[in-house]
Order: sequence, then C-alpha cells, then structure tokens
Amino acid sequence: MVPVIGGTGMPCEVCRQVHRDLSRVLGTSAPDDWMSVTAGERLEAELTPDVCIMPFRGETRHFIRGHIQLPVTLPEPDVFVWSVWVEVDEASMAAIAHTWSDPNRAASAPLSGRLATELPYEQPTRGLQITIYTRDPGMTPLLMISPSSHHQLADEQREGIALHRVAEFAELVQR
Ligand SMILES: [Zn+2]
Repeated sequence: MVPVIGGTGMPCEVCRQVHRDLSRVLGTSAPDDWMSVTAGERLEAELTPDVCIMPFRGETRHFIRGHIQLPVTLPEPDVFVWSVWVEVDEASMAAIAHTWSDPNRAASAPLSGRLATELPYEQPTRGLQITIYTRDPGMTPLLMISPSSHHQLADEQREGIALHRVAEFAELVQR
C-alpha cells in the first residue's frame, strides 16, 4: 500500500486548496494505556508492532494492533487507514497467538474487542465495540466498528469520507 494519498491536483471542493501527499495511515505505536503502566510493570510487559501484553494493577491486559479502513469516495476512490489498538480478552489473545502463523488464519472466526486508542473525534473512541477480522499472515487484522455504536467513526467507515477529511485528520493528530 502506498503510504500517501496524492489527490488529483485539483482544488478541493470543500476548502479550495490542493491536497497532495496526505498520509494514508495514521495511528499509534502502542495502546494509550501503555503510557499509564509503571516502570516496574513495563519490565513485565511485552510490546511489539502487532501485540501488547501488559500487567495493569495486578491483572494482565491484552491488545492487538488493527486497521480501521475508511473508504475515500471523493475525488477518486481510495482508502485511509487508522492504525489502532484493540483490547481483547485472554481467550481471544490465545486464539490469535495459536493461528498467527497459520496460512489459513484468514478463515478464523471474527473476534471482538474494545478500541484502546483515542482518535480525534468529538465523541470518545476508546471503548468502542470492535469486530476483528484476521487476514493472511503478514497482514494487519481489519477492524469493524459496531454500527450500533452510533459514532461518527462508524458512519465514516460505512459511508466513506472525502479527501478533505483525510487532510483534517493529518492536522488533528498533529495537535
Ligand atoms: Zn479540502
């Protein structure tokens, strides 16, 4: 996947600026709560680009990284990706670990979890109900926001966004 969305070189219908070379993928390298674990807990924790397991107040929490794909509909079809973390229960993490290198893992049943990354939306995104679809080995799992969440993120995943919104995301995450 190309790391930028280039645009058409035509002025945007919303802001009249020309959007080019916008980041196709934005996100975080760890779950938000990674910042809250103590130095001692962090010694016991594991953080890779795809998985995070961390002690937290006497319990063990499990996270995986996934992609929320938002279809870009205007001015031409494309896709924007939020690279985020999802908290799953221990049984789900065991299932993910069990099939991680399985060439047929994309056939695994979907799992559920809770979004563990705050994204720049008016309503909170942490805690949103997520369905996790594993893909072929080497591919980041795809995440679907529950449509019953009545959240702008769910609407955008279902209905798509314009390139102008991708430009807004780039500004919002810089704040
Ligand atoms: Zn614009």
